[in-house]
Amino acid sequence: MFEKTGAAVFRRLRKTRNPGELLSVVKSAHKEFERAYDSAPAEARAAVACAAGCDACCHVPVGVQAHEVLIVAQHVQMHFSPLELEALIERAAGHHQAFAGRSSLERMNMRKPCVLLREGSCSVYEARPEACRSHHSHNAEACRANLASGREDVDVYIPGVRGRMFAVMLGIDQAVAEAGYDGRAYDFGSALHEALTDGFCAARWVRREAAFSDSCREAGNEGDDDDGDGESGVMRAEGYFQ
Ligand code: SF4
Repeated sequence: MFEKTGAAVFRRLRKTRNPGELLSVVKSAHKEFERAYDSAPAEARAAVACAAGCDACCHVPVGVQAHEVLIVAQHVQMHFSPLELEALIERAAGHHQAFAGRSSLERMNMRKPCVLLREGSCSVYEARPEACRSHHSHNAEACRANLASGREDVDVYIPGVRGRMFAVMLGIDQAVAEAGYDGRAYDFGSALHEALTDGFCAARWVRREAAFSDSCREAGNEGDDDDGDGESGVMRAEGYFQ
């Protein structure tokens, strides 16, 4: 799934001549998540406990690459009213300010709800980031308990689903980075704030530059091995899909 998804995204990004269509190439790859889920063993799918109104996983920081943020920003601009947009920008600004410069652990411990969470549901469900698409739990009660304790006391993951979803996610991210587009790891809420208030973020991404400022970068924890490239989840070896 990693190979198939990544190679297809890489090929299409390389072939696309119209910059306005580049994000659509990545967006259309999102259907691979549905295919990956449908191909999981029946018993693994039957174990999924996630349901509408269950939002524990929307209270932990979401790590993303730039293309995911730009897809959500595009969705927001098309579907939110001016008042909803104004309120979202205000929440995202508060999030950006609170998260800037903090380590992953500090951000996790803040347990702040995602700026797009509305009455227990995702307000950009069709455009949600890849990590949100990939997450499934077999125990909603344990998710809430883990959130309350700030520790992963119970392993809630379902290997038969998770492995497939991650293969798709990493395939897309590797292909985007290998095609030369921003492969840095960003904090979702902070980068969304910039995407909604700075019209040049998308233009920088198209030009294969860093789309967002360093204040949106996903910071590691003290003592983490950091090679300074700021990339997360993508391999640095050249030519994986070439
Ligand atoms: S984008 Fe949607 S699914 Fe993802 S954390 Fe935010 S509210 Fe939850």
